[in-house]
Amino acid sequence: MEMTVESVKMELPDTKTLRVTWPPDYEIEFKTGQFITLAWPDTQNYKRAYSLSSCALDRGAFEVTVKRDGKMGTRIVDWAKAGDKIMVLPPAGRFLPVFEETKHLLCIAGGSGVTPFRGFVREATLLKHPTRITILYSVRTPSDIIFHDEFRQLEKENPLVSFHVTCTRLPEGHEWAGRRGRITAEWIREHIQDLSQTVFYACGPNELVNSTEALVLEELKVPKEQMRTEKWG
Ligand SMILES: Cc1cc2nc3c(=O)[nH]c(=O)nc-3n(C[C@H](O)[C@H](O)[C@H](O)COP(=O)(O)OP(=O)(O)OC[C@H]3O[C@@H](n4cnc5c(N)ncnc54)[C@H](O)[C@@H]3O)c2cc1C
Repeated sequence: MEMTVESVKMELPDTKTLRVTWPPDYEIEFKTGQFITLAWPDTQNYKRAYSLSSCALDRGAFEVTVKRDGKMGTRIVDWAKAGDKIMVLPPAGRFLPVFEETKHLLCIAGGSGVTPFRGFVREATLLKHPTRITILYSVRTPSDIIFHDEFRQLEKENPLVSFHVTCTRLPEGHEWAGRRGRITAEWIREHIQDLSQTVFYACGPNELVNSTEALVLEELKVPKEQMRTEKWG
């Protein structure tokens, strides 16, 4: 279905949020954590998936947050503007948050893979879900953190949310006082309270998701049913 880009916002120099308005009378049931598929009207066979960075309570428009990468990523970040028409396939996918009182969602993201977790935290905070959500986020440098201020704000609004960043490519002598290095089993373990109640989520480039899956399933010996992954290619 053709929709209109309502607005765009540069989150970082290489990352843009696109807000796409639903057509009149468009009614749809979807869930936080799903993705939509986008195509430009002039190249409708070239379709790419984008996780919703908005949540299921955000009606009337979809938001996706895209990094300049590859053909579609570059076209969106460098060229998409308010007023553009874009083809949108309805939300799909099973990367869904489990908002139960006793559950702890341990969300592991690399690079732009943090976008669906913004949706998770938005819904949990707006609806005051009693679910603990911890985000462990791997970026190259602090200037690659997407939604930094927003996650810090959501942490203040929702005491069950915590947002932790590790930087993997800091130049020597950099002032960053936070964690450095890749995601490790130890770092994940530090954030587990009751393993049996923890649901693990990993999202981002295949390499990060595969290595996280190995840490969680093999090193931490978590049963497969307690892990959900979303691989971006
Ligand atoms: C479920 C799902 C959700 C997703 N959600 C998001 C999201 O929220 N945000 C987001 O930014 N992306 C997301 N993606 C990724 C997105 O769908 C696109 O794959 C991405 O924007 C790149 O666009 P492309 O596929 O057209 O790139 P392509 O042009 O097909 O390139 C794919 C990759 O190959 C590399 N590449 C291309 N040509 C070469 C070459 N000649 N030599 C070396 N490397 C090359 C590119 O740099 C890129 O990394 C998601 C993917 C999936 C499956």
